[in-house]
Order: sequence, then structure tokens, then C-alpha cells
Amino acid sequence: MNYILYAIPFFLVLIGLELLLDRWRGVSTYRFSDALNSLSAGLLSTTVGLLTKAVGVLSYTLAWQQLALFELPANSWWVWLLAFVFYDFCYYWNHRLGHERNVLWAAHSVHHQSEDYNLSTALRQTSSGFIFGWIFYLPMAVAGVPPLVFLTVAALNLLYQFWVHTRHIPKLGWFEWLFITPSNHRVHHAQNTAYMDRNYGGVLILWDRLFGTFQEELDEEPVIFGVTTPLASWNPLWANAQFYVALWRDARRAESWWDKLRIWFMRTGWRPADVAAKYPQSKADLSQFVKFEVPLNLAQKVYAGVQFSLYVLGGTLLMGQGAELSLAQVLLGVAWMAVGLYIIGSWLENRPSAKRLEVLRLLLNLPAVWLALQLGLLTAQPLLWVLLLGYSLLSLGALFWAPRGQAVVPA
Ligand SMILES: [Zn+2]
Ligand SMILES: [Zn+2]
Repeated sequence: MNYILYAIPFFLVLIGLELLLDRWRGVSTYRFSDALNSLSAGLLSTTVGLLTKAVGVLSYTLAWQQLALFELPANSWWVWLLAFVFYDFCYYWNHRLGHERNVLWAAHSVHHQSEDYNLSTALRQTSSGFIFGWIFYLPMAVAGVPPLVFLTVAALNLLYQFWVHTRHIPKLGWFEWLFITPSNHRVHHAQNTAYMDRNYGGVLILWDRLFGTFQEELDEEPVIFGVTTPLASWNPLWANAQFYVALWRDARRAESWWDKLRIWFMRTGWRPADVAAKYPQSKADLSQFVKFEVPLNLAQKVYAGVQFSLYVLGGTLLMGQGAELSLAQVLLGVAWMAVGLYIIGSWLENRPSAKRLEVLRLLLNLPAVWLALQLGLLTAQPLLWVLLLGYSLLSLGALFWAPRGQAVVPA
């Protein structure tokens, strides 16, 4: 059962409520392009997940079958409780090393790139966490927690974390002592030196208090959200690649083979001495911090929003079909999603090539639908063709007649 799929309507309704609350309180915790970029990263992650989640499921099941020390019954409440707490403990270490080691940060940093903090940030997830993430949960398999219990508590842990991504909820008294809350998770998303690398728990903050990584949110230190090397892009593919590329570049530049190898597993930010001397990186001054933004007019935003909703629909459809899809079908879905979200990102960046890419994206929908029909993903209803044709013509029309903002020439 795909719990996240059923949660999508709740996610969207709660994001709507948070936007209403913004308006009611006269604050703005959302920016259009940032939220769309976060949702794009989330959509990409769930679509890619159709291909990659097998890594976690298979490795866990195999370890459980071969290595389990105890036979824990899935129908006993204490096994569920134990699994829930055990999962959060493993999550703490997965998350902590996700911040402390270069190659793991390359995957996890996607969740932290937003310079805003709202419920859309919660959905901003990495597409490459599957590479190493599974290792951290093997102790649960060895202890004998059945795969069904493991997968369920994993989903519950992730679902819990949704509501803490908001600036609207203040500190919550005694609750702060035990659980991850909006306040202590805001600290986790900060780039202020005082807040760096703190509060790693998923549901429980106990681990941070126990292992010395807890930091309270302070009135005198307002949180500046984001990462110290800004993404400065609305491209969700680049969001996933940025830090891997930086590490790869430094590894190539390094003279010694030992440095080329160890850079991946060293503490986050570590660079070979010769590379750091030759290609120094300055740290941005936070007192001068300005959020990344590309001005867009209303027509451009409406256009991007309408086009993007098609991908939300497509992503939901793909997730809903889930296990019934063949490898070819999933690959097609991932490719369609990746190309589409990349081009919408270019549109949000208002690049000179954005309009041409948009025409390409709309044209690509035709072979994509044809392929989807061949693969049995869609049925050839006349209504589908009328809708597709209408949508493509309207989009093309909007593309050529809508007023265009000042194009930004990338540096
Ligand atoms: Zn984190
Ligand atoms: Zn978070």
C-alpha cells in the first residue's frame, strides 16, 4: 500500500490552508517559483522512486530472511512500537551522516536548498537517497522487524515530518522536549552558524538531546533558511546534481589518488589541500543574505502553474499504477517527468531559451501520449485526444500571446 499516494490530497489541502493563513496574518512564507521548485523536486523524487525503492525493499527483505536474530510477530502491538522507535533511531543516524559526510550530503542537500520554509519544503525530497540510505536500516532487519512493519513505520515517520515544515506554529511547551516540532526543525533548516548541523530526529528529538546535537530556536537569532552554497536555480535536475558535480570537480582536480577517493567520504565541506589552495571558495556573508529570485509577471506564473499541475496529475497517476507498471513504462514516466520539470524550471528562470524549450515540451507530449497508448498506460478515448489537442493549442497560444517579462541572461 502506498501511504504517500493517499496523503497527496491532504498535502495539497494543508498547503492551501497555510497560504490562507499567510494572507490572514499578512505575512508571506511562500514564493511562487520556490514552492514550485520544491514540489518539482518532490515529484521527481517520487517518480524516480518507482525505479529505485526496490533497492531498499529488496536489501531489507533479504537481510531479514538471512540474518534475523529473532522472530518478531507482526501482529503484536509492542513490535510496532519498538519498530517505530527503532526506525527513528536509525533515521537519526542516517540523517546525521547525511549532513556530516560529503557524498551523503550530496543526496540530502536537496531537502535543504529552499530559502523559504513552508509545507512545500517538506515535499522537497532527494532523488538519490536510495544509494546509501538502505544501509542505515539493516539493524532493524537483523533484529527481526518484519518488512511490512518496517515499511509502514518508515512511511509514518515521513508523514509525521510534513507538518513541522511551517513558520506559523510557535514553540509547543513540553512537546519540544520529546518530539520534532516546527520550532526545532526550523533550526535544522537554518544556515546560521549557531544552528548548523542540529536536530536530526524524524519524530523524536530525544536522540539529539542524548547525542549532543540539540539546539533550541532562539529569539535573538532569527533563522535564515537554506544552504551555505546556494543552489541559485529552479532546475530540479540540477538541484539533485549540484553537490555531486562539485565533489567530482574537486576529485578530478586533486593531485593525489588518496584525496580523489577520500573526498567522497570526508566530513562535509572537506576539500583536498591542493585543490582548496588553487580554487579557493569564499563563504557568503549571512548579514548580506538575499534570497535567489527571478522576477516573473502574473501571466508567466499562471502559465507555469497550469503546466505544472499536469505533472502533479501525471505523477499521481504513475504512483497509483505503481507495481503494475513494466520497467519500460516506468522509464517512460521518469523521462517525461524529468524533461518536463526541467523545462518548467527554465521557464521559471526566464531564460532566453525558455519559449523554445516550451514548444519542444508541448510537442514531446504527442509522442509521449502515443507511447503511453502503446504501453497500455492510457486508453485511446476520443475525449483524451480532444483534451490533449485543446490543451496543446491553448498552451501554444498562451505562449505566443502572453506578455513576457524581462529575460534573464544567465551568467
Ligand atoms: Zn536534514
Ligand atoms: Zn525538513
